[in-house]
Amino acid sequence: MKVLSVASEFYPLVKTGGLADVAGALPAALSALGVDMRTLLPGYPAVLAAIGDADEVARWPEGRLLATRDLLVFDAPHLYDRPGNPYLDATGRDWPDNAERFAALARVAARIGQGAVDGFVPDVIHAHDWQAALVPAYLRFTSDGRHRPGTVLTLHNLAFQGQFDAAVFDRLGLPAAAFTSDALEYYGDVGFLKAGILLADAVNTVSPTYAREILTPEGGMGMDAMLRWRGSAVSGIVNGIDTDVWNPSTDALLDRTYHIDSLDGRAANKRAVESRFGLPADDAPLLCMITRLTSQKGIDLVVQTLDAIVDAGARMVVLGTGEPAIEAGLRAGAERHPTRVAVRIGYDESLAHRMQGGCDAILVPSRFEPCGLTQLCGLRYGCVPVVTRVGGLADTVDQSTGVVIGDITAAGVLEAIGRLVELHRSSADWQAKQRAGMRSEVGWRASAAAYAALYRRVAAAD
Ligand code: ADP
Repeated sequence: MKVLSVASEFYPLVKTGGLADVAGALPAALSALGVDMRTLLPGYPAVLAAIGDADEVARWPEGRLLATRDLLVFDAPHLYDRPGNPYLDATGRDWPDNAERFAALARVAARIGQGAVDGFVPDVIHAHDWQAALVPAYLRFTSDGRHRPGTVLTLHNLAFQGQFDAAVFDRLGLPAAAFTSDALEYYGDVGFLKAGILLADAVNTVSPTYAREILTPEGGMGMDAMLRWRGSAVSGIVNGIDTDVWNPSTDALLDRTYHIDSLDGRAANKRAVESRFGLPADDAPLLCMITRLTSQKGIDLVVQTLDAIVDAGARMVVLGTGEPAIEAGLRAGAERHPTRVAVRIGYDESLAHRMQGGCDAILVPSRFEPCGLTQLCGLRYGCVPVVTRVGGLADTVDQSTGVVIGDITAAGVLEAIGRLVELHRSSADWQAKQRAGMRSEVGWRASAAAYAALYRRVAAAD
């Protein structure tokens, strides 16, 4: 079975969030199941630098397609040769031509689906998020009897929908018939994700609970009626993490590696985290957050109640980037509590590993969470997750492996942290929870099998 995965991010080459981790981990997880997956990526500078001298396997007026064993890279400098973040310019605004940039990616994917690359004609195209969501539309409206693979669209976060002014439509290279309410047209605009939801053979999201939540008006972000209409075509498959990259017994980024049978190394790692954040050594529970600083993640609730969290006996280190007001709130909290709270504004993969390996708990108080990955890393590292009961958090953490927040409010977060501080006083109870977490299945084994089954279903239906 050949599958083309189409993504705008791919760990370790380009990453802004969990999508990169998932797209990066799926190929290896699936190869053991007989799925030959290659991933189509935009030719961002970092991607081109990583693939070096790759073969050109196709060329169109818009750009050329380069191939390595695992990757297909659409090299189109006018679209992708830009510094920094894949979606934003240096001032943090969306690139004005994002519709064209990612439509072009989807169009290339469709061409590959129609046989453009000798020796790799996919049975299925797996499109990730709005950036790849036009793949089913290009296949539907441009195939003219050519090979048409089955399609899967994965929704990593329904908050990002790829909605653009209708004027964009004329630049997409699709026939006028595609601008209707059963394809791209969405309240008079062009809707990329909307089109994918309606036209993909199967739509899945990244946890079973989120798959149910998005069918409701509260969780559907305007798309719930369409998703309900797709009925059994919508499913949830929980994400895993790469358990080789995230392995506390081999992680070279940790000061001390450790194992479920002996958590001793964590104490040295905790000292190392404290010193990196400029906090004094202390046995009080050290909580962390590793996150985009946006209201989705509930970080504003933490900012609101930081003083009370400190009063409750906890300490907190935060690594993240995002909304300026939240960054400022965290900085102010760190200034008020210089020995108890510290914040690092930035993106730092190595520090993220060290925090998971040394902090006592990781706080994930999300208002909604399609899957969430940091709680999975936390489980694997004995860094006890403190989570709200939403989306993938509800599917991956329970009372035996973590601490569950009752209400998604500042008071609810504080109440859960109070329980955590209490529990941390008993090292036997605390370690029992750590070990229960470390025993939970957070890898890709089961979910890769679920994706393989989904691919077989859509390939067979075609
Ligand atoms: P989302 O995709 O909504 O941002 P996820 O929890 O699914 O959230 O995935 C976030 C991923 O990005 C995790 O692998 C997490 O460790 C990582 N991450 C987020 N912020 C940072 C940061 N500032 N530094 C390092 N890693 C980060």
